[in-house]
Order: sequence, then C-alpha cells, then structure tokens
Amino acid sequence: MHDAKAYSAASATSPLVLDTIQRREPTERDVAIEILYCGICHSDLHTVRDEWADFMPTTYPCVPGHEIVGRVTAVGDAVTAHAPGDLVGVGCLVDSDHSCRACSNHVEQFCPNATFTYNSPDAHLGGVTYGGYSERIVVDESFVLRIPSKLDPAGAAPLLCAGITTYSPIRRWGNIEGKKVGVVGLGGLGHMGVKFAHAFGARVVVITTSPAKAEDARRLGADEVIVSTDPEQMAAHAGTFDFILDTVSADHDINAYLQLLGLDGEITLVGAPEKPLPVSAFALLFGRKRISGSLIGGIAETQEMLDFCGEHGITADVEVIPIQQVNEAYERMLKSDVKYRFSIDMASLKGE
Ligand code: NAP
Ligand code: ZN
Repeated sequence: MHDAKAYSAASATSPLVLDTIQRREPTERDVAIEILYCGICHSDLHTVRDEWADFMPTTYPCVPGHEIVGRVTAVGDAVTAHAPGDLVGVGCLVDSDHSCRACSNHVEQFCPNATFTYNSPDAHLGGVTYGGYSERIVVDESFVLRIPSKLDPAGAAPLLCAGITTYSPIRRWGNIEGKKVGVVGLGGLGHMGVKFAHAFGARVVVITTSPAKAEDARRLGADEVIVSTDPEQMAAHAGTFDFILDTVSADHDINAYLQLLGLDGEITLVGAPEKPLPVSAFALLFGRKRISGSLIGGIAETQEMLDFCGEHGITADVEVIPIQQVNEAYERMLKSDVKYRFSIDMASLKGE
C-alpha cells in the first residue's frame, strides 16, 4: 500500500477537504496511473451529499470522481494492453466478476458484482473504493481505456462518464439520422448528448430551463432551442419528437416532456434525481410512447466512443479548475452554472 493525496468528504454535510488515502500495490493485472484531470459529474455531488441514500447509501469518507484521465506510471507483469507513459482513462467502473451474463455480453455496468470507481466495496483493501479526486489510482487493466492522443486531456476526461452515458442510449436507439431528437438539460451530460446526436445526423433540439444557454446550444450543435418554462414554446412542439434524452438531475415534470413525443416516441432517462418522478398513464397511452433508462456503457462501448471522439475531434467543453475550488464548483453546478463541465487539474493537488 502507498499513500495518495485526495479530496474527501467526511459526511453528507461536510465540504471536500484534503485527505490522505491508501492505494494498493499493483498486482500483476494492474495499471498504476498518475491522474492528470478528473471531471466533476453531478453523480459525485449526489453521492457526496448522500442523496441516493435509499438506493446506494454513501460510506464516508467519500472520495468521488469517475471521469479520470492520466498517465500510466507502472504496470503489472501480466498487463499487455497498456505501458508506462500511455495516456489512459478510467470511468465509472474499476472491476467486475468477468464471468456473469452481463460481463459476457460486454455490459459490465450491469454485473451484479461490478465494482464502481468510488463508494463500492473494495475487494483489495477492504472499505470502499476511492475515486479520481486524487493524485493517483490503481486499476485492473481491463477497465483502463485508451485516450486518443489528439484529444485534449482536460476535455477528454468527461467523456469517461458524461460521454459514454449519452453516446450509449443514442446509439442503441437506432438510426437517428434525420430524426427529431430532444436533449433535456444543457449540463455536463446534455452538452455531450447534443454533440453526439448532431454528429450522428439528427435534428437536435435542446430543451432548457436556462434561456441564456440558447446561443451556446446552437454552437454545440443544436438546430433549435425550446425554453421549457414557456408553455407556448412547449405547445408548439407537441407530438413532434422521435426521441428525447432526459439528463435532468433534479425533480421535474416528465409528463411535460412526454407530450413532446410523437407516435411510438421514446424518452430515455439518464438523469438520476433523488425522488421518484410521477408519470401520467395517459401521457404514455396516447401515442404508444415509451420511457426507458440507461446507465453509462460497457468497457468495449466506452472504447468505441473514445475512438469515435478521436476520429471526430469531440471533447467536452470544460472549465478547468484547481481542486481547491471544488466546493464552489458544486454550488455552481447546482445552479446550472457550468460551461459545460468542470475538469479538475490535478497538478493543483501537488502543492498541498
Ligand atoms: P449537470 O451538469 O448539473 O446538468 C443537469 C442539467 O439539468 C442542468 O444544467 C440544467 O440544464 C437541468 N436542470 C437542473 N435542474 C432542473 C430542473 N429542476 N428542471 C429541469 N431541468 C433542470 O448534471 P450532469 O452531470 O449532466 O448529470 C445529470 C444527471 O445525470 C445527474 O442526476 C447525474 O447523477 C446523472 N447521471 C447519470 C448517469 C447514468 O449512467 N445514467 C451517468 C452520469 C450522470 P438547463 O439549465 O439547460 O435547464
Ligand atoms: Zn458520472
């Protein structure tokens, strides 16, 4: 074991502060990584504040962070896919049982024994896993991704969660070219959803509560913008969408978005609000509409997404911050005031 500096929260009401955690010595299958950048996902905030207590209670201290880009510093003897010096990524998963049906089908995120990057039982050290708000991490090689060299590492970090979480459901929906696709919420996930839907040739409409984001939405690839708090704008688009991706992190009326779907339209939830969302049966019955959910993506699909981003020059729009500003960043994220993902420059941890 060796010490690593990290930022952790001691309770649901504590700020994130400097801490020292333990990382394991690399096993023969492990990759040791010096973390360069880590994105701030709204899931980090939900977890730190124990907002998912009914479903996934938080164990403290909690070190969040699952949008990790770093440089390989050492590899175990059996590692073949990565070598010291490589630019690599780690997302929401660091291990699984490698043997269940989900693992065989390359959807490790649904493995009943999946180990998430933070707040998951740690089979090596006991306690729970600690995430990317830290100077380094040690991960099984099959959960380490290759980052295309031409991508900016700070902007690539959010691809590891926000990227795959939006790429996967849009890809799975089918051929989206020419379809009318809505993205609800222009935050970390939403702005990646806009970039991917646009890259796949959809007619993209951003549905936002923030009128001031309209210009950015168009720059990011939206063809149109609807301000959801304006009933007239919502009514004008009723029944016209093929697919809607809902990335909203807080309580909201999903029925207002269901009425935007046309016949056989589908809304996929990727946002994970604390409380259940009431759904009107009638909003589904008329138009034979569907609601579905999606959780990140498997490792192979995450690599596919990263390679796609490398080919098309896609990264997140990031505000790079030192880790000392992380608590302020959380408050700004809660106010939907981030353009459009915070990426922590982990060099800022060195001087602490
Ligand atoms: P984020 O950057 O905070 O973006 C959320 C956006 O939702 C905001 O920017 C805002 O956009 C909109 N919004 C916020 N409150 C709203 C409200 N009350 N009504 C309507 N819209 C509202 O968060 P994120 O990191 O993208 O994450 C979004 C959600 O996805 C979180 O719940 C997170 O935990 C979850 N998540 C799920 C997965 C998965 O695998 N399914 C993976 C990662 C994250 P506008 O200003 O444009 O309205
Ligand atoms: Zn995330």
